[in-house]
Amino acid sequence: MHTKHTSFGFSTRAIHHGYDPLDHHGALVPPIYLSATFAFPTLEYGAACFAGEASGHFYTRISNPTLALLESRMASLENGEAAVAFSSGMGAIAATFWTLLRPGDEIIVSQTLYGCTFALLHHGLGEFGIKVRHVDLTDLAALQAAFSPATRMVYCETPANPNLRLIDIAAVAELAHQQPNVTVVVDNTYCTPYLQRPLELGADVVVHSATKYLSGHGDITAGIAVSNQALAQRIRLQGLKDLTGAVMSPQDAALLMRGLKTLGLRMDRHCSNAQAVAEALQAHPAVQWVTYPGLRSFPQYELANRQMKLPGGMIAFELKGGIETGQRFMNALQLFTRAVSLGDAESLAQHPASMTHSTYTPEQRAQHGISEGLVRLSVGLEDVADLLADIQQALAKCNGANLRPTTTSAYALK
Ligand SMILES: *Cc1c(COP(=O)(O)O)cnc(C)c1O
Repeated sequence: MHTKHTSFGFSTRAIHHGYDPLDHHGALVPPIYLSATFAFPTLEYGAACFAGEASGHFYTRISNPTLALLESRMASLENGEAAVAFSSGMGAIAATFWTLLRPGDEIIVSQTLYGCTFALLHHGLGEFGIKVRHVDLTDLAALQAAFSPATRMVYCETPANPNLRLIDIAAVAELAHQQPNVTVVVDNTYCTPYLQRPLELGADVVVHSATKYLSGHGDITAGIAVSNQALAQRIRLQGLKDLTGAVMSPQDAALLMRGLKTLGLRMDRHCSNAQAVAEALQAHPAVQWVTYPGLRSFPQYELANRQMKLPGGMIAFELKGGIETGQRFMNALQLFTRAVSLGDAESLAQHPASMTHSTYTPEQRAQHGISEGLVRLSVGLEDVADLLADIQQALAKCNGANLRPTTTSAYALK
């Protein structure tokens, strides 16, 4: 069955890949295999499974039919050979790091990263003898200069959470692969494979927080790593089975597959809604700066067009008057929900400096391009007129606040 659907388009594969109802009593929706363990017909077969010589399922932390269907679907959507499912995005990221890095190795990472990835690098890997080097990966000369014989991985997010800075994946991968034994890993959470496919651009591993757009309904935490067969097998047998144990539950896999069916539809709507909100913010006199890859003013507009099918559903901006006006704006929102996470049907607003990126010190935030007044919006699937009305009424409540300009764009910060 797996070959039958490979030539179909993205949304067709998101709905059908790897599954034929006629193999499952005609059930249109794939069954959920809750079983933790699986029977062996003979002792010898069981031993062959453990030795990796037979491919049967034997224990759900290692593999399960429901997880296997999700994994083959995600591999197809990212155009990789294989995928491994995890109980969270951090599970996928931690398992990938612990599988591919050893004490004495060096990892080159981009400047701006999701807060818990930053914490894992500095409190986890750093304290276990792996050297972490932050490099501005938009500067290829700086990347070239950062390689050492100990470099084993280049890791980045693009667009970065929360300041939306982009990295040219093809250029970074080309440079990294001139070095021996360097793996390029890209966190594709912000885009999903509907908007951007890093493996096609030369990356070796894609990781996801599937908690976000992939599941799309805010009702599970989940993670995925996608790569070639050999790497996926290592990540499964070391990172998942032995080092983290962060296995996804089969029920969550079923919810995630339900989410994937509408991924393309949802991403189109997230993007068109976000474009309208970004344009409204840009036109408003209370706004100091707004960063959105679909705006002509976006500093990497050309790269965004080349690398991403559409500009995504995330916006970063800052109001004149900085952090206090930003707080007033956020507290005035009525339809946008004040909450972290992203990629849900509901529009969300959060303040990275006090929330998702409070794992950075204020000095680190300044260094890594996260300004203190930055407000992050995850634009949802509601009617765009209602979203615009909420933004306008909240901005109007900032009138009378101190609207003098404060900081410069997060993009100007290094
Ligand atoms: C949320 C997020 C993560 C972590 O994923 P969890 O599912 O919350 O563990 C990693 N990277 C990015 C870009 C994220 O937004």
